[in-house]
Amino acid sequence: MKPAENLGSAEVRALLCGEADDWLFARADAVKRQYFGKEIWLRGIVEFSSYCRCDCHYCGLRAANRDIERYRLSHQEIIDSALKVDKAGIGTLVLQSGEDSRFRQDGISRILSTIKQQTQLAITLSLGERSHSELALWREAGADRYLLKLETLDAELYSRLRPGRVLDKRLRLLETLKSLGYETGSGIICGLPGSKSDALADALLALSAMELEMLAVGPFVSHPQTPLANTANGNVLECQRACAILRLLNPGANIPATSALDALQKGARLESLSRGCNVLMPSFTPQKDSSKYLIYPGKNASGCPLEQRLADIRLSLKARGLYCSADRGNARRQINV
Ligand code: SAH
Ligand code: SF4
Repeated sequence: MKPAENLGSAEVRALLCGEADDWLFARADAVKRQYFGKEIWLRGIVEFSSYCRCDCHYCGLRAANRDIERYRLSHQEIIDSALKVDKAGIGTLVLQSGEDSRFRQDGISRILSTIKQQTQLAITLSLGERSHSELALWREAGADRYLLKLETLDAELYSRLRPGRVLDKRLRLLETLKSLGYETGSGIICGLPGSKSDALADALLALSAMELEMLAVGPFVSHPQTPLANTANGNVLECQRACAILRLLNPGANIPATSALDALQKGARLESLSRGCNVLMPSFTPQKDSSKYLIYPGKNASGCPLEQRLADIRLSLKARGLYCSADRGNARRQINV
């Protein structure tokens, strides 16, 4: 996809330092409007299991964290939650979880087939690193998209923060996903402790060269029950600049305004929708469990019933001259409006 602006490494670095915020945010908003108009894609996300075999240093769901109450939805609960997404007039369902070995090939396939039989929903999976055969089978069973964030493009930092894992394997998995015909998404955590000073600019350029359909940058939020407790949080403004730069480099890509933004600064998620982002992902995880999906403090913290949260989103978007679309919300290859 042709970038909206030809930004080299020096320009990206300067923009990340805030040298032209007014221009950057206005231009990112204009480019987003060229491709997506006033529409914001909603993705209903069902976080169906907080069990995880991994030990990522940044995440509250890491296996070594024995101080959280874990939950796992039943197949029927997952399907019921998916039907709620459909009924709410939302075009995409996201199924996300820790790397939970109890949900294997066949279980996920059955869930996908049932949802596909009963709805027209596009389905995104975000289940971490899985085998080629699982990914192939799920694609056949109806999964349309897969989100697998790289988290950092610094191979040494990656292995330090994700013990037992290597960046190369994650990169190869993204290629596998593309070859299986998934709309593929990735991204990074902005402000991960240990990141080098110019790493963000390099990562944005490298991610853009991968020609992905979805790109996500969320700020790091320090979790007290992890090895990164008491480290500094990511910077909201820097993260918004990163998303705006991604919009200029990948004009038709789907770029979510992540909930981590709101965990650090209330209102920052909505503000990002006028700074280049075009996707919001309200949680449809049943209320009895949603606050236990504690990847970072503040995640799913609203406590309001689903209907009220959706009504609030619609109102806030309207106030910004935007509206929620019921479309499946694929990435766009060319200017649309
Ligand atoms: N287990 C899957 C999906 C669930 S985790 C996976 O890891 O791919 C979803 C995302 O949460 C991760 O990709 C990571 O980017 C984000 N995340 C985890 N801990 C975080 C933290 N402390 N601050 C900000 N984002 C975090
Ligand atoms: Fe597990 Fe994903 Fe958290 Fe890592 S980021 S511990 S894989 S849920």
